[in-house]
Amino acid sequence: MLVIPAPGQWKLRTTSAAPAMRAAAPARPRPGLATGTRGASRARPLAGTVVGIDPGHNGRSWSDPSFINHLIWNGREWESCDTTGTATDGGYTEAQFNWNVAFQTAADLRALGARVVLTRHGNDGIGPCVTQRIATFNRAHVNVALSIHADGGPPGGRGFTVLEPVADGINSRVIRPSRRFAAILRNVYGRLSGMPVSTYDGVDGLQPRDNLAGENLTRVPYALIECGNMRNATDAALLTSATFQRRAAAAISAAIERFLRPRTQREARRSPRRIGPDARRVAPA
Ligand SMILES: [Zn+2]
Repeated sequence: MLVIPAPGQWKLRTTSAAPAMRAAAPARPRPGLATGTRGASRARPLAGTVVGIDPGHNGRSWSDPSFINHLIWNGREWESCDTTGTATDGGYTEAQFNWNVAFQTAADLRALGARVVLTRHGNDGIGPCVTQRIATFNRAHVNVALSIHADGGPPGGRGFTVLEPVADGINSRVIRPSRRFAAILRNVYGRLSGMPVSTYDGVDGLQPRDNLAGENLTRVPYALIECGNMRNATDAALLTSATFQRRAAAAISAAIERFLRPRTQREARRSPRRIGPDARRVAPA
């Protein structure tokens, strides 16, 4: 069963709770918000937040197998630093898709007022390792982080999956917000992107994973999205189109805004960076 809120459900809630529309009553000042910021906070609802965006893989990682294949500790087991990622049958790479969607998502989030931390700054580099990517988010104390991917699944399977962490001690303090974020992302991405939930991975678009460095080592609310299946012809036609990539980025930004908005309204000004302690350890030397 797919649990998707009725269209406009959370929008309705926001609208009905918007006292700004009743102009007659003098507004009670909200703690931590300077006078005159009401309009600004509506225009930049994510002001004061920090978001981590990880475009999975990298465009030239294939050129340095000894680096990409060296082993790292992912919190539960040894795995390779990264992989090259998958590609469509036509040769369009996952690394390029991930970069395009991440770049657009970052632009959307900045327009909403967020500061964005990226793990790579183009699609012509090598790495970094998956452990370094999550360490970047932990060090920056981002309020939420997302790794953007597209899957190399069975050609007959369609759709997207959100991979969420499983408690392992390191990440235990952020399991609940990570699951809340994953559920919001599943609902909003499913509603706005036009991509169906996966027919071959997870349940209703959600899949807990305990063998990925990001999930295992995170100290911030975190998820990974497989935006579709690059090996499926129908999904590939979408994933390679600029229109779908913009729609995917808009859906992801909307989900992040939905996750962070209660925080921006009630908490961000008082405690902007209080989710999880510092990441001191990433992997044994
Ligand atoms: Zn990937």
